[in-house]
Amino acid sequence: MPTAFPSADHDHHACVSHALDAAEAECRRRGARLTDVRRRVLELVWQQGHAPVGAYALLDMLGREGFCAAPPTVYRALDFLLAHGLIHRIERLNAYTGCSRPGVPHAGQFLLCERCGTAVELDDPAIDSVIAAAAARLGFAVSRQTVEVDGICPACRAQGGLA
Ligand SMILES: [Zn+2]
Ligand SMILES: [Zn+2]
Ligand SMILES: [Zn+2]
Repeated sequence: MPTAFPSADHDHHACVSHALDAAEAECRRRGARLTDVRRRVLELVWQQGHAPVGAYALLDMLGREGFCAAPPTVYRALDFLLAHGLIHRIERLNAYTGCSRPGVPHAGQFLLCERCGTAVELDDPAIDSVIAAAAARLGFAVSRQTVEVDGICPACRAQGGLA
């Protein structure tokens, strides 16, 4: 089920609260503890709209809120969120984005807007099958896979210019 690009005037508060509810449910299901700092890091990731955010930006934001924000605190929180499928890492940007479907196993597949930074998950099983089949033909066992596609999102295209 491909996710649509969010419209500029969508209710992003609803995205954030839905993501936090889903994260809490997923942690309960897994018996994992969503501590205050982990929850706050997830919330900050989502609050940046749908653009991925880097670890140091998160560190700044946490520090301003009085969390004991040493880099290991943030990296440990990010590792926890990654391990439980609540966020994805966008390799090319060295940044993190909230997962729109935690609890459903899937490899990361992203469309990344070069103008506004919006990242949208494709989550299309057909892409995984094609990669798996192509890798298998070469005798290659896939252990982890991230698909990152750069381009221009519908909102930025509507603003004119290229593409
Ligand atoms: Zn949103
Ligand atoms: Zn996801
Ligand atoms: Zn855009």
